Amino acid sequence: MTEEKCQRCGDDEDDLRTLWHACLYAMNEMDLPFKEQLLMLHVDASNITNNFYTLRVCKKCRSDWMIAIKNWFENPIPQEEKGTGIYIREFGAVKEVTQEEFYLRQAKKSKNDALDREYYASALGSLKEDI
Ligand SMILES: [Zn+2]
Repeated sequence: MTEEKCQRCGDDEDDLRTLWHACLYAMNEMDLPFKEQLLMLHVDASNITNNFYTLRVCKKCRSDWMIAIKNWFENPIPQEEKGTGIYIREFGAVKEVTQEEFYLRQAKKSKNDALDREYYASALGSLKEDI
């Protein structure tokens, strides 16, 4: 039995395999324990080196991953217009959010900056008082 464990659930089964992810975007923004690995591909008579984000996972987690991909593909999330004119960039896409969603997001992002966190929490609080 190997010492290696599933990165997702911690299982130490012998059948760990690597999930390879790439979409030409810095997927480490997802804050998952990806390992970055370069892979040389042979495409249309050319060699291309591409950065992949990998996870070592057990059989059950691979199955969960495949189910998640299937659900994502079969259930596209409709674009929702909020009418606020407040846009954020999330995982490479531009998305319109409410003012409350913006303050919540900023407060979470500033978890290491007490002043910023206090500012956004206060802004969020006064926003709730206005509602
Ligand atoms: Zn697992």
